[in-house]
Amino acid sequence: MSLIDSLHESLSLKKSQNLYRHRRIVSSPQGAEIVVDGQSVLSFCSNDYLGLASHPDVIAALQEGASAYGVGSGASHLVTGHSCAHHELENALAKWTGRERALLFSSGYMANIGVISALCQRHDVVLQDRLNHASLLDGARLAGAQLKRYAHNDCDALTQRLVKCHGSALVVSDGVFSMDGDVAPLSEMAALVKMHDAVLMVDDAHGFGVLGQQGRGVVDHFKLNSNDVPILVGTLGKSFGTFGAFVAGSEALIETLIQQARSYIYTTAIPPAVAYATLTSLELLKNDDWRRDHLNMLITHFRQRAIEAGLPLSDSQTAIQPLIVGDSERAVVLSEALLEQGILVSAIRPPTVPKGTARLRVTLCAAHTKAHVEHLLDLLAKLLSDC
Ligand SMILES: *Cc1c(COP(=O)(O)O)cnc(C)c1O
Repeated sequence: MSLIDSLHESLSLKKSQNLYRHRRIVSSPQGAEIVVDGQSVLSFCSNDYLGLASHPDVIAALQEGASAYGVGSGASHLVTGHSCAHHELENALAKWTGRERALLFSSGYMANIGVISALCQRHDVVLQDRLNHASLLDGARLAGAQLKRYAHNDCDALTQRLVKCHGSALVVSDGVFSMDGDVAPLSEMAALVKMHDAVLMVDDAHGFGVLGQQGRGVVDHFKLNSNDVPILVGTLGKSFGTFGAFVAGSEALIETLIQQARSYIYTTAIPPAVAYATLTSLELLKNDDWRRDHLNMLITHFRQRAIEAGLPLSDSQTAIQPLIVGDSERAVVLSEALLEQGILVSAIRPPTVPKGTARLRVTLCAAHTKAHVEHLLDLLAKLLSDC
């Protein structure tokens, strides 16, 4: 069979297993209500947790940045792509996270593969939570490192791994797990990692902006510091509402990444106007506690009402509130039924999540009102009892 014939075959198989993925076409800005495939819907899918992606001040800053710097950065950071807007944003992110330096990457995916492959070689051991984001796993694979996965958020399983590898391991975890919304037990993990002379790296894509004082994320939430978590990754496409990512850490870490991280070196810098706009979104994210307070009120309310209605709620205190329905087909049917009623909630299926744990991934954000959440809960209660 030719390669192309085999593509047809594997695509048909995906369709028959309810694992085929389609893209929807969005024609509005992000917000509580968006237009997808021409239909106006109430969305519970976005990672724009604070509603900054379409904030007028962030839009104005992007426009101002484009006037000042043009659109494209023109080159990689090491050639002529590193503008003063990028530089200023790196300094602001370093200060905000309480670290010596921060380094911008073009995306979170690229930051994770860049960091792990720059720091680890073939013989090195990388210990990762079983539910870590795909980019973290790919980073270890790219490095050719010995990737060992431990049971989700299980410090005993992590200890067993650490004991076996006799030091020098890199331990990597999501801060807030992207498909589950639960938080890594970082205080215990940091203590264990130190005890075994290993190093802890945390990807806090979903914690920044949402957890901690001024949205400083999961490390701040647990009152830990750069000594406990020397390698910290954040993304700008979620709570920040813009695009790109950063790594925050020591001078030596950042200089090493500049010299060695191939996904940093061999790619064009993000548009300087995006970095410029992110300076504005960082100010809003830091200073406007009311968005976080409103989001936390919605989370509490959603959970209370969901428990009363007997919905299959998960153990998450964050903006990500998955309802595990098990079967991929059931997840798709429920998601389609919600859409018919004008509500968008994505069905998340394997291989993004383990087999048998397909789910409706509800994400709440500051742009939602209590009435939006009520409406979602009423429909969910009805649909889950019907199918
Ligand atoms: C979204 C996400 C990434 C990828 O970030 P992008 O900037 O979208 O490439 C990495 N890690 C986690 C945990 C994420 O949720």
